[in-house]
Amino acid sequence: MNKGNQLYEGKAKKVFETGDPDLLIVSYKDDATAFNGLKKGTIAGKGVINNKMSNALMRMLEKEGVPTHYVKELNDRDTLVKKVEIVPLEVIVRNISAGSFAKHYGVEEGVVLAEPTIEFSYKNDSLGDPLLNEYHALALKLATREELDAIKKYAFKVNGILKKFWLSCGVTLVDFKLEFGRLADGSIVLADEISPDTCRLWDSETGKKLDKDRFRRDLGGLEDAYREIMARLEQKMEAAK
Ligand code: ADP
Ligand code: UDP
Repeated sequence: MNKGNQLYEGKAKKVFETGDPDLLIVSYKDDATAFNGLKKGTIAGKGVINNKMSNALMRMLEKEGVPTHYVKELNDRDTLVKKVEIVPLEVIVRNISAGSFAKHYGVEEGVVLAEPTIEFSYKNDSLGDPLLNEYHALALKLATREELDAIKKYAFKVNGILKKFWLSCGVTLVDFKLEFGRLADGSIVLADEISPDTCRLWDSETGKKLDKDRFRRDLGGLEDAYREIMARLEQKMEAAK
């Protein structure tokens, strides 16, 4: 499958048409941004890592019964996916306080939450991705009640599967962002990516951050952290063969 016209260039990926109207190719870049695009940089090799990690995790989720957009990894940076109409919500699941949650609610980072939480922001860069609740999402016709129910069910299921997997790699899944989309038949599937750009992943023993917070917070050792988290995943996958 070859790349056709470029439909979109985002902050981390490009999206191309294919010969098939139901399929797209996403191409992962090394570009990194934070704070709604205010901070820009590159992380050498990130695109390859995010592509391969997201694909490995989506294949795992599919096996466990979570429908995803994943079709086929084409090469180091390019993946064939089912074209969806993205539901304009960033769906954030948290197990441990960090980032904006810690700030909003005055909790220190690293506190284990009594229960996993879910929150939504409106995926709209010009508004700065504002937080919203389910009533807002319904009022703005961003999704239907049935779609929100499916999204919540899948998001918590993804959390259970990924938390267990990362723990087996010696990594704590702190929080993450998911995006969902509608297929032509209206059904909801997991889309976009799952990677160190979209998850907080801490070494379970040392607490070392193995994710994009190293870029957001200028902690250094970016490339090494991305390589390390990928190596942990690959080791585990290899051992499971
Ligand atoms: P951003 O748009 O936030 O800068 P990216 O650089 O990751 O993000 O761009 C990828 C874009 O492709 C995102 O807007 C994402 O919602 C969208 N997308 C992801 N998966 C699919 C899919 N299967 N079908 C259509 N669009 C998708
Ligand atoms: N996240 C993301 N894209 C966004 C905002 C958040 O992938 O536009 C991820 C982020 O990597 C983290 C989780 O969602 O794993 C929660 O992020 P938070 O709300 O704490 O925001 P931040 O502190 O990054 O502003």
